[in-house]
Amino acid sequence: MQARFKRATFFCIAVATLLASLISSAHAATSNQIKSEKSLSLVFVGDIVLDGKAGEHIQRGADPFKGVKRIFESADLRIANLECVVALQGEVVDKNFNFRAHPRTLPYLAKYVDAVSIANNHSGDFGPKAFSEMLTHLQQHQIGFFGGGNDLQQAHKPFIIEKNGYRIALLGYNEFMPRSFEATAKDAGVAWSEDEQVAADIRDARSVYSADIVIPFMHWGWENELRSGPRQRALARKMIDAGADAVIGGHPHVIQDTEEYKGKPIIYSLGNFMIDAMDNANQARGWAVRLELKGTSVQRWQTQLIQLDEEGIPNSTDELSACWSKEKGLQTQCKPFVAK
Ligand SMILES: [Zn+2]
Repeated sequence: MQARFKRATFFCIAVATLLASLISSAHAATSNQIKSEKSLSLVFVGDIVLDGKAGEHIQRGADPFKGVKRIFESADLRIANLECVVALQGEVVDKNFNFRAHPRTLPYLAKYVDAVSIANNHSGDFGPKAFSEMLTHLQQHQIGFFGGGNDLQQAHKPFIIEKNGYRIALLGYNEFMPRSFEATAKDAGVAWSEDEQVAADIRDARSVYSADIVIPFMHWGWENELRSGPRQRALARKMIDAGADAVIGGHPHVIQDTEEYKGKPIIYSLGNFMIDAMDNANQARGWAVRLELKGTSVQRWQTQLIQLDEEGIPNSTDELSACWSKEKGLQTQCKPFVAK
């Protein structure tokens, strides 16, 4: 009796194991099939400040994104760094340059951008109350955000976007002072870039949040430096070693260099995108970068040069700019990905 029971149990386990393996291989085949057949494009742009001249344009009903509209239209997903707080309340924080935009600017941003990084040295310019108010406005306008939240845990949580069969995780970190903008267990604020935490967040994006593609958007480096520094290069490698598929950066207000590490792109600084506070000609040029995903990695990336006018309003250019493809494995110069 006991032997028969054991045999029956063994048979049940064997059948269950076989079924489970059939189901999981069918699932893997479906998801691989989706990933090999469908591609996905993402566009990232640098610092956007919606107060000052851009805010004035919007106040009189003009669209400051008009000159770069086609860049956003060319991609499946569009991501930017929102280098200001968007709120009505808050107290000005004692620091150099405080940017606060009116919430009426957000319908314009929502038209072009799917998600923003709020991990930077300006999103806290009017304190945690204004920061928190901004999160509500972003939610109301269906603009995703990452790199900040109502508490520390939310600030480190990836923003997940599902599109074309991909599950993409976006993370954002600031490492430029003041650190007082950092979220705490109870207070709203940004995610600060502590190496071990960044690596853990990247690993969690895959294991806990089941992301296929993980992209950290960094706020780092030194203003006006035309090349990345040792700190940026070391952290970029750590992030890729932890599982990032691409690293995108900003803050220096100028374009910096790019590289591939383990076949994964690092775009150290996109420079400015929409800002009227500019000190020199380099600050009036920025990059939009377009990543093309196929299978489970970035197959190609391409930059397009943006020229900001004297009011900091962006326009596309037709200049050649840096690009790379996995197939060729070399960086070269390409025509813009959208016509001027
Ligand atoms: Zn900055």
